[in-house]
Amino acid sequence: MKAQRKTLSITDIKLTNARGVLKCLKGNEQISRAGISRATGLSRPTVSVLIAELIDKGCIIECGDGEAHSGRKPIILKLNRAYKYAIGLDYSSSRFIRGCVCDMAYGIIAKAERPCDASRGCILEITSGLIDELLQHIPAESSLAGIGIGVTGIVDTVKNRVIESERYDLNINYAGYLQDRYAAPIFMENDSNVAAVAEYAQGKARGKENFIYIFCSEVIGMGIFLKGSLFYGNMFNSGEIIHMAHDGITETCGCGNKGCLGVKLSESNIISQINNGDKKVNTMRQVYNLYHNYHPQTEAAVNEAAKYLSRLIANTSKLLGIDDFVIGGFFTGFGERFLRAVSEYVKQEHVGFRSNAINIQFSKFLEDGVALGAASLVLDKVWDLSL
Ligand SMILES: [Zn+2]
Repeated sequence: MKAQRKTLSITDIKLTNARGVLKCLKGNEQISRAGISRATGLSRPTVSVLIAELIDKGCIIECGDGEAHSGRKPIILKLNRAYKYAIGLDYSSSRFIRGCVCDMAYGIIAKAERPCDASRGCILEITSGLIDELLQHIPAESSLAGIGIGVTGIVDTVKNRVIESERYDLNINYAGYLQDRYAAPIFMENDSNVAAVAEYAQGKARGKENFIYIFCSEVIGMGIFLKGSLFYGNMFNSGEIIHMAHDGITETCGCGNKGCLGVKLSESNIISQINNGDKKVNTMRQVYNLYHNYHPQTEAAVNEAAKYLSRLIANTSKLLGIDDFVIGGFFTGFGERFLRAVSEYVKQEHVGFRSNAINIQFSKFLEDGVALGAASLVLDKVWDLSL
């Protein structure tokens, strides 16, 4: 039987064209209707009609005259960063939850944080208090587009629910409850994945179609970006590297096994190694101070972590042929010296083809990456005209 070709309706074509106009405006700060027409290949009348509708909707504004080579000056258009706002929440810690409000230009306009003991199971109550506080920062003339949540664990982004999390016990209808309470769409996503989204939208991976984001906090995870999109695997479990088996690791992991990579790349492992020596530490701030002062036991613990991290990077690069890596989470506090050490170890490990091509950077957003990425999920959907 002959396969039926899907024909685009007039509505589909109009939506595609409107998305093209918005994409063009996203990439150009000083552009007129004529400029958009040239850049998109759409006719001037089509562009004028689309722009009129998008101005009416509120997502584009006119902002004065541009330069004219001759005749009438063109009117410059830009995206309205105050059109709507998104809230992003970070559920990657067992000690606190963090949130931010972002405008349509992916800029953080407000941040807040609440202590949260994951073992007490009061996440919903604390989240509601945090959202209520963040909502105060949205101007009265604008509105909330939606709320994104970055969660440690495996998240089914189709059913919008957490399949498995070592952090918080989230009810199957968690997103639905918040959706009803705030009358806004809620999007759940893995924490490493949303942090990768932030880097792709506005950070160190901007313009990179293929890159890896490695997030190390209390646990470790990986966001894999292939051809400009997150790669999920069959069960939304791609990048779940915490229990990846590794020779030479004798410590027991929280899962009960020995040899899990996550043990060596955790804050708690570095702290416990330092505490076996002459100094006693409780916080990463103390660890950073010791490392920056070249304390021998701290140097040894951090360098060991750097070696495990470099092996992960080298092996991932060999497996996927990806050169660009962004590191987020607590490793960023060790600064450039740590990054240089990781890069050197990678060169030693990654001999042969493209051995000098691997580019390792720290996240642009540091501690805000997960919350900003969660908000970015919402903003991307608004700009895609699907919200
Ligand atoms: Zn394990």
